[in-house]
Amino acid sequence: MTAKLLDGKALANHIRQTIQQQVQARLAQGLRAPGLAVVLVGENPASQVYVRHKRNACAEVGIVSKAYNLPLDTSQMQLLDLLDQLNEDPEIDGILVQLPLPAQIDTETVIERIVPHKDVDGFHPYNVGRLVLRMPLLRSCTPKGIMTLLAHANLSLEGQDAIIIGQSNIVGRPMALELLAARCTITVCHSRTRELAAKVRNADLVVVAIGKPQLVTGDWIKPGAVVIDVGMNRLDNGRLVGDVDFDSVSKHASWITPVPGGVGPMTVASLLENTLQAAQPRTI
Ligand code: NAP
Repeated sequence: MTAKLLDGKALANHIRQTIQQQVQARLAQGLRAPGLAVVLVGENPASQVYVRHKRNACAEVGIVSKAYNLPLDTSQMQLLDLLDQLNEDPEIDGILVQLPLPAQIDTETVIERIVPHKDVDGFHPYNVGRLVLRMPLLRSCTPKGIMTLLAHANLSLEGQDAIIIGQSNIVGRPMALELLAARCTITVCHSRTRELAAKVRNADLVVVAIGKPQLVTGDWIKPGAVVIDVGMNRLDNGRLVGDVDFDSVSKHASWITPVPGGVGPMTVASLLENTLQAAQPRTI
């Protein structure tokens, strides 16, 4: 078997065009363009690249992004003060604080300081809680992008056995909640999981988000399974690879996401969708 590609790049381009049209429609109604505050603390090179991609994507669709680049030694109080201002700013619909934050700043405190209706990353306990209760508002971008990709490929999820490897707050856990809401039977694995490969072999859908280059190999995959690779790992030779060994896994899977060009562009597309959603009049 040779797996078919779940082409996140192509679908994300399509979503961006749709969002651009929706932003134009807002402007035509006399509304302002949606506004996104992008907060970066320090000069982590990977974070700088992610922030640049997100801001370029905003510019392309007509969302106004405002950069707040703070020095590495910014105190938690200074960052919280900025968030308080952005929470009150009527021209800012969404607030994104790029993670990871420096050690002197507590990530959870920062996430909780953003008002939930501007939490376009979907990380605030309020938004995660709404997902738990199957009444989502702003959904975490990477899992949301994966659900959009699966829906676009018309892959039926009800009753499927799904395994999620990785239990982080930003990917693994919300991914499990999304798939549970879609009526999959879910298994969530992590670094202490025993007999991981055997568990993966039972799954119809495998989502891998661990940050370990090419850990999952073809002999772990049930024939015909759908494989979603969230990992982004830079090898010593500069090559970007996922957590899945693409060559061997694509011989067993029915569908697979490439790295790059799979989940990454869908994450950015979901951020744009969330920012537009946050700019619409609220009903709750
Ligand atoms: P994270 O916070 O470091 O969490 C990693 C998770 O993987 C943890 O739950 C950890 O278990 C588990 N894990 C680590 N090694 C394992 C192993 N050998 N077997 C089983 N589980 C293992 O990472 P993250 O933020 O979720 O990101 C994961 C990967 O996705 C990274 O490569 C990141 O760059 C990428 N990512 C990509 C996107 C995108 O848009 N494409 C977005 C976000 C993240 P414990 O909980 O037991 O420690």
